[in-house]
Amino acid sequence: MKNLALTGGKSTRDVKTNPWPQWPIWGPEEEKALLEVLHSGVWSYNGPKETEFNKRFAEFTGVRHAICAVNGTVTLQIALEALGIGLGDEVIIPGLTWQATAATVIDVNAIPVLVDVMEDTWCIDPEAVRKAITPKTKAIVPVHLYGGFADMDAIMEIAHEHDLFVIEDCAHKHGGEWKGKKAGSIGDVGSFSFQLSKHLTAGEGGVVTTNNVDLAERLDALRNCGRRPEGDSLIGADKGIGTYGDDGNFIQSGNYRITEFQAAILIEGLKRMPGQNATRDANGAYLNALLKDIPGITPLRRDERETKKAYFNFAFRYHQEEFKGLSVDRFRSALEAELGIVVDACYEPLNNCSLYVPHTKPSRHKLNEEYWAAIDPKRFSLPVCERIYREESVCLHHKVLLGSEQDMDGIAEAIRKVYEHADELMTA
Ligand SMILES: *Cc1c(COP(=O)(O)O)cnc(C)c1O
Repeated sequence: MKNLALTGGKSTRDVKTNPWPQWPIWGPEEEKALLEVLHSGVWSYNGPKETEFNKRFAEFTGVRHAICAVNGTVTLQIALEALGIGLGDEVIIPGLTWQATAATVIDVNAIPVLVDVMEDTWCIDPEAVRKAITPKTKAIVPVHLYGGFADMDAIMEIAHEHDLFVIEDCAHKHGGEWKGKKAGSIGDVGSFSFQLSKHLTAGEGGVVTTNNVDLAERLDALRNCGRRPEGDSLIGADKGIGTYGDDGNFIQSGNYRITEFQAAILIEGLKRMPGQNATRDANGAYLNALLKDIPGITPLRRDERETKKAYFNFAFRYHQEEFKGLSVDRFRSALEAELGIVVDACYEPLNNCSLYVPHTKPSRHKLNEEYWAAIDPKRFSLPVCERIYREESVCLHHKVLLGSEQDMDGIAEAIRKVYEHADELMTA
């Protein structure tokens, strides 16, 4: 008799009778808000919902300015552009992140410099950042990955020492806090995504945050065809302060605006998020405590300086040698069968990532031979990223963290079950 679901045994969770929480979450509030927009005829362009959301998100994040844009890729791109980063500049980013963190750097003609991450948090390694600094370095883009927090004390110290900009990629970290300061309020600019997989979502969308009024005006223009901010739409009380002349357009750009429908959903989602974050954080901490006691499983380290966690997808580290040699791929498949939910590896490291392939587009990126060589991802060595991706990473969608403590017990039970019966998979 086999025990594991993958070998024909009974699964730990029966998702037909006991489904996981659904994502996204919405209710009558979203329906009402969407209809309000529909009936108003104001479907886009600095409308009341966008203005309200920007204001609420700035307050929530503890910054003076928040500016929505079409997605969390464009927000990274306009952050780089607003800081004047472009041809000849180097931008240091972690090798373990979504491809957008790197793709946006080449899209402004700068050079992404990929550095390794910490094995216990999967976030950028400050020592690796230090080693990668050259006279061409202009900025660091730390990513708060899978609900972890980059060591912002170390990053800001390095940035001050070397006069570098810091753009926080907060696509996984809405509402997290480092020593009482929200993610997105510590660096020069914060960039957030509202794509469907993120824990505040309108299907697509993004926002940039900053305390700097000049940057805010540039960011606002960059998402709006280069137009200078109008009326109260951008900055309310700060209206009129900044670096503009009186002569209309001031910067070359395109249309990266969101719609009022998205903003309407985001306003309601932002009201729900603190409660959802509290549930995810309580469950994440509880589950991590359970995982500590399972051989071969290491929870990710949560830094003491994180005053609010904001768990995103739930990730942990796996050690094959303690699971009788069972490969991490087989482990993930076995866990997936036990739990009835997708169990993924982390992102592919960017030095070998199927979606980060700058050399496929010479017409755009072959600015000259030197640049072409500099943006070759393969020139970077990322041993920690590669080990995490190939051997250790196990990731579950954040919706599991919206369940109950019993659901967390079930996840730990399923992992233990695979541990105890790993031998069933060794011959299969
Ligand atoms: C999702 C994501 C982005 C990009 O956001 P989109 O809204 O999907 O364009 C950027 N960085 C990270 C780390 C992300 O996870």
